[in-house]
Amino acid sequence: MEIKLVKDILAANEVIAAQNKAFFTEHGVYVVNLMGSPGAGKTTLLERTIEGLKVRRKMAVIEGDIATSRDAERIAAHAIQAVQINTGGECHLDGNMVRGGLGELDFDGIELLVVENVGNLVCPAEFNIGEDVKVMICSVTEGDDKPLKYPLMFQVSSVLLLNKLDLLPHVEFDLERFRADALKVNPHLEVIPLSCKTGEGLDTWLRWLEESSATEGV
Ligand code: MG
Ligand code: ZN
Repeated sequence: MEIKLVKDILAANEVIAAQNKAFFTEHGVYVVNLMGSPGAGKTTLLERTIEGLKVRRKMAVIEGDIATSRDAERIAAHAIQAVQINTGGECHLDGNMVRGGLGELDFDGIELLVVENVGNLVCPAEFNIGEDVKVMICSVTEGDDKPLKYPLMFQVSSVLLLNKLDLLPHVEFDLERFRADALKVNPHLEVIPLSCKTGEGLDTWLRWLEESSATEGV
């Protein structure tokens, strides 16, 4: 019974996600679903991404959080359209919640939409929102055991950003084991170690994003 219910919820979500996808295609918008734990650095990565890319890509952002509009305020400070979705307790965004945010944005000329999902390594991976690509971010402070403990998010993501590389000397984190485990779970994963603080590796990420959004859009 419970399994049936979960299947129905996911099937209903797929329908709405497909409608969102059609909306994005119609408006020529490339959409990134950014996922990761609380504190992995999702919003900071977004700020760095906006700084690095906004002269070449017209961007907008949807922020998903259980409560508060703090992240949307951080993004709006970069002169980018940002809408906050508060899930009111739900630990992920689904297609319907994202659809609810679309009317708040002016998509005229927008080329790239990044949706920052609710901080959570589990169920955001189960809900498509109509995105072109799923990107996940982990930080070295979370420990190197995450790919095997939370495999689904690693499986559904195209890119794995490993943040806070500047803290590597101070924590127990085996970068090669982490990379090997992540690739065991998903051999196609693009693994990009970086530091939003020092800027190391950010150019690799920005290049990836610029290239992937260019090939999809036109
Ligand atoms: Mg955030
Ligand atoms: Zn959830």
